[in-house]
Amino acid sequence: MSETYDFLFKFLVIGNAGTGKSCLLHQFIEKKFKDDSNHTIGVEFGSKIINVGGKYVKLQIWDTAGQERFRSVRRSYYRGAAGALLVYDITSQETYNALTNWLTDARMLGSQNIVIILCGNKKDLDTDREVTFLEASRFAQENELMFLETSALTGENVEEAFVQCARKILNKIESGELDPERVGAGIQYGDAALRQLRSPRRAQAPSAQECGC
Ligand code: GDP
Ligand code: MG
Repeated sequence: MSETYDFLFKFLVIGNAGTGKSCLLHQFIEKKFKDDSNHTIGVEFGSKIINVGGKYVKLQIWDTAGQERFRSVRRSYYRGAAGALLVYDITSQETYNALTNWLTDARMLGSQNIVIILCGNKKDLDTDREVTFLEASRFAQENELMFLETSALTGENVEEAFVQCARKILNKIESGELDPERVGAGIQYGDAALRQLRSPRRAQAPSAQECGC
């Protein structure tokens, strides 16, 4: 398979332990639910190329791998991330209450323009719900986050969460709001984009200085 892509984005999956971060990453990469019998040490890292509106984007995704409690390890983890999935569990008010702390860390320690999508995971467990959709969507709006309810079990909205976050980053690049070349932006050009950049550009209108008239 070709490894050609236009951009590479560094992504994080953050939120309390037990909210389903590792399962979301596994579902996104493998397209199946990671069942509990698989007790291998957490996957710390996964990558996948997605097509977003005709652009190929390689997502390089980091999982906390069970280190959620250790605040000291987080600084290096956040450095230079372009996007993040901020995960809570819809059946646990406690994980929802913790969102503000996670958000503060991500905004303080992540890249300036980090794009965050809030994911209310375990959508399949609606009967045990402790956090309403409305409440969470208000929180998302107030904090300028995108928002989806997901299920790593059924796969519902899992791919969408990653794709929507990547699309927003691409939009910001295209509008000039985000400079991919800024150190720490969590973005790199891939081979495909570099080839385009190197190809001869169309003749540009002469600037005022060059114009002899
Ligand atoms: P992490 O600590 O945030 O990485 O959470 P895990 O991915 O290890 O998942 C914690 C527990 O929640 C495990 O028992 C999973 O099987 C379960 N789980 C994760 N996602 C879902 C989901 O979408 N639905 C249901 N029903 N269970 C889930
Ligand atoms: Mg985990």
